[in-house]
Amino acid sequence: MAGAFALILAAFGSAVVGGATDGNTLKADKYQTISQSYSGSAKAAAGDVDISRDFNRTNQIKQTNAQAAQVQAAQQEQKELAANVDKQLKSRQWVLPVTGYNITARFGQRSGLWSTTHTGLDFAGPAGSTIVSIAAGTVKSTGYEGAYGNRTVITLTNGPDAGTDIWYCHQSNIAVSPGDTVGAGDIIGYTGSTGNVTGPHLHLEVHPNGGGPVDPYTALVEHNVTP
Ligand SMILES: [Zn+2]
Repeated sequence: MAGAFALILAAFGSAVVGGATDGNTLKADKYQTISQSYSGSAKAAAGDVDISRDFNRTNQIKQTNAQAAQVQAAQQEQKELAANVDKQLKSRQWVLPVTGYNITARFGQRSGLWSTTHTGLDFAGPAGSTIVSIAAGTVKSTGYEGAYGNRTVITLTNGPDAGTDIWYCHQSNIAVSPGDTVGAGDIIGYTGSTGNVTGPHLHLEVHPNGGGPVDPYTALVEHNVTP
């Protein structure tokens, strides 16, 4: 009896073991299936990664190109701004009307020489020295003008100074005619002692918008020239 029980047990045990084995096999199959499906999805995922990598790379190239274009546009803008500033500075840049001179009378000085205060800046030097236009402009008038002697009036044409009249007085000779266009540094006449003077000099006046005179010294300094 005991032997039969043992046999049954053995059979049971075997069945149990077999069942367990079947279970393991099932589990293993399931695992394999899961594993396969995982590895399949992993491959798909890897494919996705590859695609997204390509996508990212394309995007990065696009972004880099866009950034480069932005940098280029900014650089171009900066260049244009610098050119504009340069242009503005140049248009504001005057030149001295004479060389080798001494300043002998300033704006606002009082003297028996003038009916009112001195309305210009005097550059004294040898007679016959060349006088140049301090900036680009158009000759408005030339001729003898009483106490001012031989006078040339040039209306500036460039930049924020357009419309400003510059007077060049006491000239020995005038080298331009009304309507002439002159550039900064162009010869317009020669120093002399015509009009109310004590010696040869250039009397320079600055009339913004053709109005009353302002200090030529200040105006010259404002235009990057120190007399
Ligand atoms: Zn003067």
